[in-house]
Amino acid sequence: MSTSELAAVVDRLTAADPSQLADGETVRALHRELERLTAVTTRAVAAFDAGRAWEGDGARSASAWLAVRCRMPAVAARRRVRLGRALRHMPSAEAAWLEGEVGEAHVALLAAARTPATEACFDRDEAMLTEQACLLRYSHFARCLAYWRQLADPDGTEEDAEAQHRARRLHLSQTFGGCWKLDAQLDPISGAIVSGALKRIEDELFAADWAEARDRVGEPVRPTDLCRTPAQRRADALVEMARRAGAVPSGGRLPEPLFTVLVGYETFAGRVCELASGNVVAPGSLARWLDRATVERIVFDGPHRVKDVGVRRRVFTGATRRAVEVRDRECFHELCEEPAEHCQIDHVQPWAQGGPTVVDNGRVACGAHNRARQPWRGPP
Ligand SMILES: [Zn+2]
Repeated sequence: MSTSELAAVVDRLTAADPSQLADGETVRALHRELERLTAVTTRAVAAFDAGRAWEGDGARSASAWLAVRCRMPAVAARRRVRLGRALRHMPSAEAAWLEGEVGEAHVALLAAARTPATEACFDRDEAMLTEQACLLRYSHFARCLAYWRQLADPDGTEEDAEAQHRARRLHLSQTFGGCWKLDAQLDPISGAIVSGALKRIEDELFAADWAEARDRVGEPVRPTDLCRTPAQRRADALVEMARRAGAVPSGGRLPEPLFTVLVGYETFAGRVCELASGNVVAPGSLARWLDRATVERIVFDGPHRVKDVGVRRRVFTGATRRAVEVRDRECFHELCEEPAEHCQIDHVQPWAQGGPTVVDNGRVACGAHNRARQPWRGPP
């Protein structure tokens, strides 16, 4: 087949008015065909690589040829060739990609999961993993695959986590005019602890900025009315964090990192070892925190059922709040992936209409989806 037929079809699409292609169904269909075409291209690149036709032009490798002849960044060319080679070991994924059932991002995740250590398990599970890739959105599939890797290569997972921890560093250096430059890398757990503390102070400063802007310009306040940019506020939050650290009385108890143990959850929903953000972490990387951490326990008696604490309150707090957060993990809206730690807990049946403040009537809702909720029309 010649690519001129394809070019003719694309020509007709380029001639079309974008507004004719602007409905959701068409946008989805276009992405699907785009993925199929990327799959075909990747497979062709793999065959080109194996056939060594690039040697005739004097190129040192297929990716070097690709980078020059197709005017691609060298990294992108290498990635294309590598993905093409990986496809040879992933027949199910290749078929699903050619069908447009999965996209390049999913396939690249799968390819990265096949290492010398996981090879045997991967080849056994490839069809099952591809099935999951066809069902799950990207972030959920990445999480699912991270758990699969933990089981397929427990040592490798722990070694990776150890390497991440070893790579930790922080530079605070004085530069021109006496200013300071801060640059750091932290492992997932340490980073989450710092980020959480910083975010709490940032939220306080944001509330203060919002109140100040309301007094100055009146309602409605727009983000541009705030006296600080988000980056400025974050910098101020870090200084405030340092100032408060100095205010901790000697011998005072430091706030501790919190770990949640989900009892019975694995039985219903599978393995879980992740941060509140949804980042999967290696079990061993928790160990160095356990002597300093407080641990809470939440008991599940079904995949979506947490044993209730049963206290009637207007807002979700304490154990009830945590139970809903841990159960739902993300905003309830199907098009939203805001992690629970940045969300509110909303009553499914509103409190004003008699909805109780119990786990079964709670759900995680981000600010936008909490405000945009539809009027409640009774149980489904
Ligand atoms: Zn949301």
